[in-house]
Amino acid sequence: MADRTVAEHLAQVLAAARPLPPVVVPLGEAAGLVAAMDVASRVDLPGFDNSAMDGYAVRAADIAAATAQAPVRLPVIADIAAGDAPSRPVGPGEAARIMTGAMVPAGADTIVKVEDTDAGMPFVSVLVATSLGTSIRRRGEDLPEGGPVVAAGTVLTARHVGLLAAAGHAEVAVRPRPKVAVVSTGAELVAPGNPLAPGQIHDSNSHLLAAAVDAAGGHTAYRGSIGDHADDVRDLLDRLAADVDVVITSGGVSMGVHDVVKAVLRERGEVGFVTVAMQPGKPQGFGRLGERGVPFFGLPGNPVSAFVSFEVFVRPLLRRLMGLEPAVAPTTRMRLAAPLRSPAGRLQIARATVDRTPDGGWVATPVAGQGSHFVADLAAADALLLVPAEVTHLQPGDEVDSILL
Ligand code: AMP
Ligand code: MG
Repeated sequence: MADRTVAEHLAQVLAAARPLPPVVVPLGEAAGLVAAMDVASRVDLPGFDNSAMDGYAVRAADIAAATAQAPVRLPVIADIAAGDAPSRPVGPGEAARIMTGAMVPAGADTIVKVEDTDAGMPFVSVLVATSLGTSIRRRGEDLPEGGPVVAAGTVLTARHVGLLAAAGHAEVAVRPRPKVAVVSTGAELVAPGNPLAPGQIHDSNSHLLAAAVDAAGGHTAYRGSIGDHADDVRDLLDRLAADVDVVITSGGVSMGVHDVVKAVLRERGEVGFVTVAMQPGKPQGFGRLGERGVPFFGLPGNPVSAFVSFEVFVRPLLRRLMGLEPAVAPTTRMRLAAPLRSPAGRLQIARATVDRTPDGGWVATPVAGQGSHFVADLAAADALLLVPAEVTHLQPGDEVDSILL
């Protein structure tokens, strides 16, 4: 059977994906998540007319003639700090000392900033005429009660969290972080930190993918490594499918005799194992597990293949589940600094380091080791270059789309 294209496989991954049902979280957990509903303000912002300056609340008419040569002297009948409720109005010919953010007392219609006075107590000399309404922040001028705080679909930033708090909300309904299980498969795998017997390697994929999941906004709820025994793999996947939103395995999906993920899941018909016209990452498993229809990715075992597959297929699904649109984040156009060869008929996803040019553009230099086992060069890369299937040679100066890492 012919390989399917990356776009075709991605379309299958995203076809039935919907944002996860909303949950209500405290503000401290909201940043980076997507609001699931419109939120309205519970209060006027500002909540009351208040002073924008440290100074004196007066009646503008009383100080209309004030100059440095002929100051207007007024008795100070109150001292109003932020948080105080003024106890009496300011009458004609009177002033009240007032601090920034304090409630403007009834009767006063302008604030003279302290720099325009002698800062006096219990009498103040006003040195500058101040027109009606100066330095008064009006109730509701920023956002009235009932006004829009965030709209459904907004990615909540620190600024939105601040506004939600100001508007009286301690919690907000969001799309949750998808709970993800990451499982490495392979009899050769040993947890990092443990000694290696001949033929063994450290399990890097589960750590790589768990970190990638969390960095993409998901939550790695399970991370582990399992051998190549069909019963173990079957039991673990069943357990995880009952518990999480997405299951990711690595390894065991190609043509080897011990390719256990493929063997176990194929027999049930829930997961399709296909070849995708890409390099690296050709063998891919995708489907839905168990009664809950949990999305399942069977990623190839080579670490670079697993990571590239995550970026191209898993991240868009996580974004969709989180309500982040577009599911496929925009790519960045770059110029090549060195030539690049690419296989015919397959989308090559090359690793590269990138630099900025003085005019704000991007220049990409492919890393030396483009084989799918080059984990050091993967770590050194800043971008994945997307060389279209039909392109076989690129020259320095040629442009290529890329995923910035
Ligand atoms: P597989 O697809 O299981 O045949 O694995 C392909 C290659 O990736 C083999 O060289 C494996 O040893 C290697 N590999 C598989 N899983 C991991 C892992 N979790 N960490 C590092 N290398 C792996
Ligand atoms: Mg294997």
